[in-house]
Formats: sequence, structure tokens, C-alpha cells
Amino acid sequence: MAMLDIIDLKAHFSSPDGLVKAVNSVDLQIKDNERLGLIGETGCGKTVLGMSIIRLLPSSAGVEGQIIYNGQDLLHLTEEEMRQLRGREIAMILQNPTTSLNPVLKVGDQIAEVISLHKGLGKKEAKARAVQMLEAAMIPEAERRADQYPHELSGGMKERVMIAMGLASHPSFVIADEPTKGLDARTKAEIVNLIRDMTTGRSMLMITHDLAAAGEICDRIAVMYAGEILEEASAETILNDPQHPYTQGFIRSLPSRGLHPISGSSPSLIDPPSGCRFHPRCPYAMEVCKSEHPQMMRLENGHSSRCFLCG
Ligand code: SF4
Repeated sequence: MAMLDIIDLKAHFSSPDGLVKAVNSVDLQIKDNERLGLIGETGCGKTVLGMSIIRLLPSSAGVEGQIIYNGQDLLHLTEEEMRQLRGREIAMILQNPTTSLNPVLKVGDQIAEVISLHKGLGKKEAKARAVQMLEAAMIPEAERRADQYPHELSGGMKERVMIAMGLASHPSFVIADEPTKGLDARTKAEIVNLIRDMTTGRSMLMITHDLAAAGEICDRIAVMYAGEILEEASAETILNDPQHPYTQGFIRSLPSRGLHPISGSSPSLIDPPSGCRFHPRCPYAMEVCKSEHPQMMRLENGHSSRCFLCG
């Protein structure tokens, strides 16, 4: 049975230009101890999907469908019930440590706060546990670093603090939002190794535009475009045998595969293209693609693709 079962999820919110349909009928499953990478360009709806799971979208956002976590629908929990789960069982490693960390609190105290809140430990014990988490996140001289403020740490070290904080309460399910964004190549490689080591044996949704990093960390990958999942398979299959033209283009745009960007730009989520949402940019688009919306086609070994060519 899946630990997390997302069924027909839709999320939308108002903007001055109209209704933004950020997530459109998404179905996804994450099993126990499975790490799923959610890949896509900026603005494709992947962060909104993550925020829907942990229910941190603004109250003005409309969210429909089901998000079944260990048998209970998160969308039907009260705010208090959700607050009990958030951080303790379901935690988020937020993107952008520079804005996510409190600049006037020492990093050790920030982690200790999470531990006291969710584990009920006293101040001294929580602080000692925070130092252990910084050690686990491979921060040298963890005790000294715990007494520093975020601005005293490098970008890579702040990312390690975010990871330590996200995992401090030993959650069963982690959502990591763009954990490698903005890091130089060497730091990124270290963070990828760290996340892989620290999330072994946990379930995780890793939201990222970095397919190479997701390939190294995740068991499966789902590719999102204009609010929809276009392809889903094992990480190995997505990297080596992608079937959807968008995934194929995404892979060709990687620096390691020639850096050939997909032509055109991401569509509007207010007024997405008719038919297949990728058709204006697809080199294989046919007449039918402009008017008919392709369903997810099941291929073999848990591989599925939303493209008429895969039928
Ligand atoms: Fe391209 Fe048509 Fe497939 Fe969409 S359905 S990806 S437009 S071939």
C-alpha cells in the first residue's frame, strides 16, 4: 500500500490576470521507503503540488481531490490535526535557506526549536540533539556552528542546516523543495550525497528542476509540465529510455547531454494550450494533438506517458 496516494488533485488560485490552474488532475503514489523526484521547469506547478500536500498554500487557494497519507485524507484534517502531523511526521526541506532561516536566531537554536516542538524535549536536550543533527549533516565543528547565525555560514552550509532542520524530528515523509538550487557544482555533489544518505529508509518527494540530481537520489521520477504529469517511471528508465517528447527534450537540455534547450517557452497556467499542453513546442505534434487531450498511457514496468505516440 502507498504511504501517500494523491488522487485527481487540482490546485488553483486567483491572480490579477485570471485563475491560475497550477495543478491539474494529478495522480501520484509514493510507497514506504520510496523517493520520488518531481521534475519540471520553473512555474510548472511542482512547488504548488508540494505545498498542497503539507497544506501550506494560502487559504485563498482552491485545492480539490484526495491526498491520502497512511489511510487519512490530509485535505479533510482540521488545522490542528494537520499541525500535529506537520514537522513531526511530514516535514519539508524548504528552498532558499537565505530567506527560510531566521536571520536573528542561531542555527542550533532554530533546529532545537523544531525538536522541542515535535519531540517535547527540554531546551538543553533539544540543543544537544540539534548539534547531533548538524554532525549528521556533515557540518564540521558542529557545536561551534550551532552557535552561529545564518549569515556566518556559506550557502552550502546553510543548505545542510535546512536538511538537518527538515529531518530533525525524524519524519516518515519528507518533501524537499529544490534542495540543490543555486549551489556550485562541488557543493551540489556534496548535498546530493548527503540527501541520499540522510533520507535512506524514508519516503520522500523531491521537487526539483535538476534531473541529474533527482536521478542520483530518487527511485522513481515523475515529469510535470503545465500542471500535469506527463511521464512517470523508474529514475533509470526516465534517464535512459524516456518515451515522452518533453522528457526527451528535457534530457537533451542537460549540460551532460549537449545542452540543447527545448524551443519555445512554458505555457500560461491561466490559459494553457488546448489538446496536449506540450503541442506548441513538440517536434512530433500531429493534428490530433491540438484538439484532444492525451490520457496517461500505461507502458511496461510501472512506466506511463501522456502522449498519443505511446499508445
Ligand atoms: Fe507531442 Fe502529440 Fe505527444 Fe503531445 S501528444 S507530446 S504534441 S506527439
